[in-house]
Order: sequence, then structure tokens, then C-alpha cells
Amino acid sequence: MKIPSKNTSGYLGVSKISGKEKWLVQINVNKSHVRIGTFNTVEEAGQAYIDYCIKNNLEDRLKEGDRNKYLREYNKNNKERIKERNKKYTVRYNSKATKKRHALRDEILKAYNNICECCGEIEPDFLTIDHIDGNGNEHKKEIGSSLYRWLKANGFPKDNFRLLCFNCNCARFYNNGICPHQEQISKILKGE
Ligand SMILES: [Zn+2]
Ligand SMILES: [Zn+2]
Repeated sequence: MKIPSKNTSGYLGVSKISGKEKWLVQINVNKSHVRIGTFNTVEEAGQAYIDYCIKNNLEDRLKEGDRNKYLREYNKNNKERIKERNKKYTVRYNSKATKKRHALRDEILKAYNNICECCGEIEPDFLTIDHIDGNGNEHKKEIGSSLYRWLKANGFPKDNFRLLCFNCNCARFYNNGICPHQEQISKILKGE
């Protein structure tokens, strides 16, 4: 969240009580107005707003810098809890469906030679199927299901499909359908 331009305290949720050396802290949550409290200094008031947001799971209502600071602190102080949480994700990641998806992807990569046809990249996580005619999005819409499953069901066709790395695949998109590597190669071959 950014501090609104009409805010004169410099702290989110903090405004000066007119005529007094006191600072009011307030926030709107789900259309209801919460008065967090009044404080003698603007710094205390600013901190009260931050504490309130953190205590009530309203981190998205913090200034970006404060939120990042909070997250860093949280990560530092909750290493064990985070480890446990990550373990849970690992279990999910290794679920049956995920394993099946990975096996299918491995099969696809193998059928298309496990290598970027443009630059020779072989790191599997960098590789992706490239539609040679450049109409990948249309084709995916047309088949309506997973491209990998479709390729397998159709006997791994090579007419319009090949393996590229994400670099070469994306670069084609921005360079009129040709990976810049290919332009470099043709220049070298021409002796330029
Ligand atoms: Zn490549
Ligand atoms: Zn390339």
C-alpha cells in the first residue's frame, strides 16, 4: 500500500488530532471503521498501525517496505515452522498426480531428443515444446487439453513440434519467429 497523498503524517493510518499534540490511528476493515488508538508521538502511532495489521493478518495493508521488513523478521523467527510448511508442500509435490505429470513430461522430452534444437541446451527444466508454425496458443485452444497428452496420443509428431529451451522459444516470439541464435549462425556461415 502507498501512503495517500492527503496523508500528512507520513505514516499509513495516522492522522494528527487537530489542536492537540496527539496522533490518531485508524483503519477501515471490510467496510467497517476501526479506531486503533491515540498516541503522543507519530512514531508510536505508526508502529501501532503496523502491529495492528500484523496481528490481524492485514499485512497487505502495510507499506511495501514495512511488509518486507515484517516478512524478513517472520522468516528469521519462524525457521522451524517454515521448514514444516515446506515439508507439507514437498509431500504435495510428490503426489501421485504430480509424479504422473513429471513422467509424461520426461517421456515427451525424450521423444524430442532431450535437447534444444536451436542452442543445444540440455537442462530438462529449461526445455519446452515449440510450435514451429508459431501458432501455439491457437493449437492449445483447439485441443483444449494438455499439449503433452495430445502429443503422446498422436505419436509425438515432428512436423510442427520440436524441443527448444525457454530462451530460444521466447526469443523467437520477440524476433519475428526466428531465434537470434539462428541469425548469428547464418552470419557466421556467410562470413560476416
Ligand atoms: Zn535454446
Ligand atoms: Zn536459440
